[in-house]
Amino acid sequence: MSDKRNSEEVDFSFKCPSCDKGKIRVTKTTYDIPDGDKMLLIKFECNSCEFSNNDVIPLTINSAPGIMTLRVSNEKDLKSKVYRSPVGRLEIPELELFVEPGPNADFYYTNIEGILFRFENAVSIYRKNLEEGDAQIGEIDMVLQDLHKALEGDFEFTLIITDSGGGSYIIPEDESKYTFQKLENEESE
Ligand SMILES: [Zn+2]
Repeated sequence: MSDKRNSEEVDFSFKCPSCDKGKIRVTKTTYDIPDGDKMLLIKFECNSCEFSNNDVIPLTINSAPGIMTLRVSNEKDLKSKVYRSPVGRLEIPELELFVEPGPNADFYYTNIEGILFRFENAVSIYRKNLEEGDAQIGEIDMVLQDLHKALEGDFEFTLIITDSGGGSYIIPEDESKYTFQKLENEESE
C-alpha cells in the first residue's frame, strides 16, 4: 500500500523568537489515521539554537484564504491555537493592535495568550521610549490595563486574521465563537 506519511519541508525564513539570530525551518508532515482522518504535524526548528516547537492539527481545520474571526471572552478562549502565516494580517480592533503581513514580522505560532503577551511586551517597550509628559502615555496605559484584563479573561475582544494567501489558522476552544469568511482570489500571479 501507499506511504502513510507525506513530508513537505518549507523554509519561511522566520527569525527565531528565542535566539533572534537563527532562522526557523518549518516542516509539515501529513499522517493518515486508521479511522480515515488526516493529521498534520508541523515542526518548527531553529538552525542556530535549540529552539524547536511542534504541533499536531487535524486537517479538518480550514487554512484556505479568508478572514478568520474569533471572539475571546474567557480564560478558556485564551488557549485557542493560532498560526499567522507570513501573508496574514492579525488584528485586535478593540485594542487597536495589529501585526502587518511580512516574513520579518514576529513569528506568530502560538495561542491567544501568547499573542497578548507579545503585544504587552511590544507596547511596554514603546511606552518606555516615550518622553515623560507625552500625550500618548494615558492612552497607552489604558491599552496595557486592558491587555492585563484580557490575559485574565476579563476583557472581551475579537481576534481577526486576514490571510489572502492561505496557511493561517485558528483552532478555537469554543467552536461557536469562531467564524470564517472565504476570500475570493482577486488577482493571481
Ligand atoms: Zn534560535
